[in-house]
Amino acid sequence: MFFLGIDIGSAATKIVVIDEDENIVDGSIVNMGTGTSNVDDSVDELLKRNGIDRSACPFTVATGYGRMNYKGAQMQMSEITCHAKGVHKVLPEVHTIIDIGGQDSKVIRIDDQGLILEFAMNDKCAAGTGRFLEVMSNVLGTNISQLGSLGEGASEILPISNTCTVFAESEVISRLSEGKNIPDIVAGIHESVAKRVTGLVLRVGIHPETALTGGVAKNIGIIKALEKELKIKLSIADKPQLTGALGAAMMAREKYFNDLNSR
Ligand code: ADP
Repeated sequence: MFFLGIDIGSAATKIVVIDEDENIVDGSIVNMGTGTSNVDDSVDELLKRNGIDRSACPFTVATGYGRMNYKGAQMQMSEITCHAKGVHKVLPEVHTIIDIGGQDSKVIRIDDQGLILEFAMNDKCAAGTGRFLEVMSNVLGTNISQLGSLGEGASEILPISNTCTVFAESEVISRLSEGKNIPDIVAGIHESVAKRVTGLVLRVGIHPETALTGGVAKNIGIIKALEKELKIKLSIADKPQLTGALGAAMMAREKYFNDLNSR
């Protein structure tokens, strides 16, 4: 028997399948625009490549921004709960989770059991989210997956003075037309996101055992810039974009067995 967790985000759909002993079997990430927009097709593809029949998956939990629009799950759960659950499994020492996704960023503080103590969220403004980085990588004519390493050759950080994504984009365009060094511009972009997220982290309080999750955790420039702002070393899960879907799959398993036992 297997359990599915599906995290339908603004930028990507993430799917994790676990077995009945809570072992992670596999996971997949379908970026919006690059893959199928049909969640079920992605689920079928993931199950097929692992030789699993859909009928062997009795319970599915959907999470993320688009969870209410997906009809294939038995239950929907908040991303906060799912991220806390998923991170606690793969990084049990972690007490603070910083999740930077496509259109929001969140900070979650959890206890030794992985239960949520407090959280803060920015979902009002693209600054400090993956969307900001996507806008900037478009302006720079690079791929989002290259942006992190592009900043590594910086000799100085060119700070971005505007918080607003639209104005910050114009600022970057001006810097480019002035012929400024691209790695220095990129370092400024990363610093801008890190400063914004640090403001959110400070609202919840910092714990040295802190993990960065979400697709933006794949950006080495953001990891380094955040570590500099927060003055701590961040833990990064093996697959940081999949922790929400993992937590959802764990919730699915838990709910299935609880229901079974209460019958
Ligand atoms: P959501 O749950 O809102 O869909 P994700 O946690 O999936 O968000 O993260 C999506 C964001 O992750 C994108 O906006 C992008 O900034 C970033 N991202 C995705 N893939 C990569 C990558 N390979 N390298 C760096 N950043 C990435």
